[in-house]
Amino acid sequence: MAVAVESYLAARPRWIRWHEWLRGRRYTLASFPDRSRPLVIVAHSFRDAARGRQIALAVEQDWMAAPARCHEAYEEILRRGPGIIIIQLRRKNICGCLGHRHLVMKEAPFAEPHDAFGGAQVGEMDIAYERVEGWLASPLMDTALDTQFMAGSRLQEFHARQLRLRLLSVLLHETHHMVFSQEQEDTVRERSLGFYRDALANYVENARATLSLTIDRSFSRFGRD
Ligand SMILES: [Zn+2]
Repeated sequence: MAVAVESYLAARPRWIRWHEWLRGRRYTLASFPDRSRPLVIVAHSFRDAARGRQIALAVEQDWMAAPARCHEAYEEILRRGPGIIIIQLRRKNICGCLGHRHLVMKEAPFAEPHDAFGGAQVGEMDIAYERVEGWLASPLMDTALDTQFMAGSRLQEFHARQLRLRLLSVLLHETHHMVFSQEQEDTVRERSLGFYRDALANYVENARATLSLTIDRSFSRFGRD
């Protein structure tokens, strides 16, 4: 479907594409490697290309690295959810929320059904990147992990992974709302925070296992020593 959508975007009239390009609008596509749907399309400004890429990485890599129970928790939601999910990437939201689902499609190229979508339903949400960056998803756990990683490249790598897992949990959270619109916020949040915690703990556990085989000073505070 990603190929069909890309050729649809490229085949639109030249003036529309030029207008979009001059406005600075760009699209970054990402697919879950283990499932045929949904296709995630990040709509962002050209200035936010690197930020859009983080969401794509979360979908393409971090999802796969998450443990099986994380996948199971969202199996039904992803299966029943829209075949195409548009994420309008913003830096901030006036209301201060991390993200919202949209009831009305706002992203022009996807607002009307098209053959390229293969009959897939299209859902849309926004994510406020800087809000997610500053969000203390799981304050006690986050701080506890931070002290283990000390400084240096390992800490940077950990923070980058942590941010991508937050972005992924917001994406899953809003998709959950789309599919089960009657579900209470508490229930929806519990699941997305559970995903975040499990996926992050799994990453730390693996990092620790790999590093016990190598000498790395940045990990000297790991374990008992
Ligand atoms: Zn919610």
